[in-house]
Amino acid sequence: MEKRHAYRNLKLCSKDCLCLFVCPTGAADTETGQIDFDKCIGCGACAAACPARAITMLPNKMPAQQVKQQEVIQALFEVANQKIEEIKILKYLLEQATDEDKKLYQACIHSNKVVIEDLMREAGYMLPQSKNTNQFLQSLRQKGPTKIIDQLLDKLTVND
Ligand code: SF4
Ligand code: SF4
Repeated sequence: MEKRHAYRNLKLCSKDCLCLFVCPTGAADTETGQIDFDKCIGCGACAAACPARAITMLPNKMPAQQVKQQEVIQALFEVANQKIEEIKILKYLLEQATDEDKKLYQACIHSNKVVIEDLMREAGYMLPQSKNTNQFLQSLRQKGPTKIIDQLLDKLTVND
């Protein structure tokens, strides 16, 4: 069977610690809240025990990114750019809005950001093992502290 490990979504976690009790290796008990990849043996006990469904089992080695046609990527970028323009307009409206209307504009901005994330993912970006993500991380190394970036680059083997 393909090797896998647990991943905890902290936004869903209700901090009841059930995963800590069932984990046989202590991988679920970390100061950062993230599951310790090196200790996790992929048994899945934490995911089965989690009442909030905050834990997902992921393959250790991600599948290769699918090849996208340039026209498809271009079209996705164009829609994403439109969404960015919409966000700019919504931010302008938000500044003028009454307290009652602010929630609506904030929700629209958030919704547009989620759509942009999906579009970029669909266009082949944001996949941790993809070549373009690797290039993006490499570019960040020029701009500041590199410890976390180096750790990410160490763990993410490009496979496309
Ligand atoms: S999959 Fe198993 S070893 Fe890994 S964190 Fe969950 S319970 Fe612990
Ligand atoms: S069992 Fe689920 S909800 Fe509870 S602490 Fe673990 S991840 Fe969070």
